[in-house]
Amino acid sequence: MHVVWFRNDLRTTDHAALTAALAAGPAVAVFLWAGQQWRSHDVGPPRLAFLRRCLESHAAELDTLNVPLLVLDAPVFADAPELLARLCSHIGATTVHAIEEFPLNERVRDSAVANRLAADGVRFELHEGGAILPPGAVMKDGGDPYTVFTPFKRRWAAQLHEGARTPLPKPAAQPQQPRLPRQWPELPLVTSNCLNLKQAFDGIDADLFATHWPGGAPEAQRRLAHFAEGVIEGYATDRDLAAEPGTSALSPYLSIGALSGRTALALAISANDGRLLNGADGPSTWITELVWRDFYRHVIVHFPHVSKHRAFKPDTENVPWRTDPEALAAWQEGRTGYPMVDAGMRQLNGTGWMHNRLRMICAMFLSKHLLLDWRRGERYFMERLVDGDFAANNGGWQWSASTGTDAVPYFRIFNPTTQAERFDPQGTFIRTWVPELDALAPLLEGRRKKQFFEPWSAAAPPAGYPTPIVDHKQARERALAAFKGL
Ligand code: FAD
Repeated sequence: MHVVWFRNDLRTTDHAALTAALAAGPAVAVFLWAGQQWRSHDVGPPRLAFLRRCLESHAAELDTLNVPLLVLDAPVFADAPELLARLCSHIGATTVHAIEEFPLNERVRDSAVANRLAADGVRFELHEGGAILPPGAVMKDGGDPYTVFTPFKRRWAAQLHEGARTPLPKPAAQPQQPRLPRQWPELPLVTSNCLNLKQAFDGIDADLFATHWPGGAPEAQRRLAHFAEGVIEGYATDRDLAAEPGTSALSPYLSIGALSGRTALALAISANDGRLLNGADGPSTWITELVWRDFYRHVIVHFPHVSKHRAFKPDTENVPWRTDPEALAAWQEGRTGYPMVDAGMRQLNGTGWMHNRLRMICAMFLSKHLLLDWRRGERYFMERLVDGDFAANNGGWQWSASTGTDAVPYFRIFNPTTQAERFDPQGTFIRTWVPELDALAPLLEGRRKKQFFEPWSAAAPPAGYPTPIVDHKQARERALAAFKGL
C-alpha cells in the first residue's frame, strides 16, 4: 500500500507524488489537519475557509480516481511523524509520497517524518512540484545562491528543462478503492469518507469569500484558461491598473496547490507562441512573475533566517521601528486618510485578496510612512489573505520595507497620491472601496482632479473620511533618517 500525503498541493494533475503512488499502487490519500500549527503561522479564517472548499473539491476528484482521502487531526507539525507511522502500520503501507515544501518548519517536520518512518522500514519520498524549478537547481557558477532577481531569472531560464515545462497528466484511476480497516484505534481519524469532511471543518465558515474564491482545481483550470485566452495579452500594461481585472487572480490556487506552477507556465508558454521570456510582452511579463514566485521559494530555503522573523539584511534589524497601536489599527482598518492605501486595505478585508500594486503601496506605507515594523504587516496580511503564502508574503514585505533580498532601495518611497493618480487615474478603484469620497467624484472630470486623491486639500473635504494620520513629506523624512542612520 502507498500513501499520498497531501499538503499545499490539492490537485490531481501535475502531481508527481500521486502519479508515483498510483503507478506502484494501491494508494490512499491522507491530509493532516494542523489547526494549532497554522494558527501559530498566523493563518486566518479566509485561508481556512478556502482550504475547506479546496479540500472538499479535492476529495471529490480523488474519489473519481478511487483514492480514498483520510483526514487526521494532527494539531501541530510535531504530531505528524507518529501519526503517519501509526497510519502506515495500521494499513500496511510501505511508502509515503509527498510534494516538497520549503518553509523551515515544514522542512523540519518532513525530516522528522522521514526518520520516524525509516525506523519502521517505511520509505518517505519527496517529489518535485512545489516550485517550477526546485531550490538548488538555480545556483551561481560557484555554487552560491542568487540574492538578486535578474541574474536569477536568467539562470532559471537557462536551467528550465523539458520536464519543468511539461506538466504531468492526471493519472488513471486505480481499478477499485483499496480496502481499509473498519476500526481506527489510536488514530484521531476525522473522516475516512472523502465526501463527508464536515466534522473536520467544525467552526470554519465555508462561505467566507466563497463567491470571490470558489475552491478547487477545476476552478483554477477554468481561471487559467480564461486568463491565457485573452487577458494575458494586455498583462504587461494592465497589471498595474488597480481597477482592471488585468491579472490572473490565480494566487490563491497556486498557493494552495490547486494549480501547479508548471501547469501555469506551460499555458503561458503556449500563449507566448512557444517562447519563454523573449516573446510577446504580456505572456513574457507574466512568466517573469512566476519566476519571482520561484525566487522567493529559493530564498527561504537558502537563507533560513528569514523564516525566523529575521530581516534578510541583518543591518536593517536596527531600524528604530515605532510602536503606535492607533496608527496600526488605522492602517489595518483602512482609515489612514490616504484614499489609495485605505482602498487597498479595505479590498483585503473585504475579499481576502489585494492587487499587487496595492500590496506594495500599503506595505510601504506601513513600513516607511508609519515606520512600523514590517513584521506587523506581514502578520496582518497572513491573517487576512486567502492566498497567504509564507515565501511570497515574506518576500513582498521585505521588498517593500527595504530589508530583503533585491529589495526596493530605502530612499524610493512611494507617494500614495501619485501612485493613485498613475494606477487609478479615474478613481474607480478608490470609489469602489472608499464611498465616502463619492461627493468629490465630480472633481475627477476637471482641473482640480488632484483634490480627489488628496481629499484633505478639497475646498469641502468629505464628511466621515479621516484626515491623513501622517504628512507624506514629514513621514518620508523620518523614514529616510531612520534608514540613513544604519
Ligand atoms: P498575477 O499578476 O497574475 O501573477 C501570477 C502569479 O505569479 C501569482 O498568482 C503569484 O503566484 C505569482 N506572483 C506574482 N507576483 C509575485 C511576487 N511579487 N512574488 C511572488 N510571487 C508572485 N503573493 C502570494 O501568492 N501570497 C502572498 O501572501 C503574497 N503576499 C504579498 C505581500 C506583499 C507585501 C507583496 C508586495 C506581494 C505579495 N504577494 C503575495 C505577491 C503578489 O502581490 C501576488 O502574488 C499577486 O498580487 C497575486 O495576484 P495574481 O494572482 O492576479 O497575480
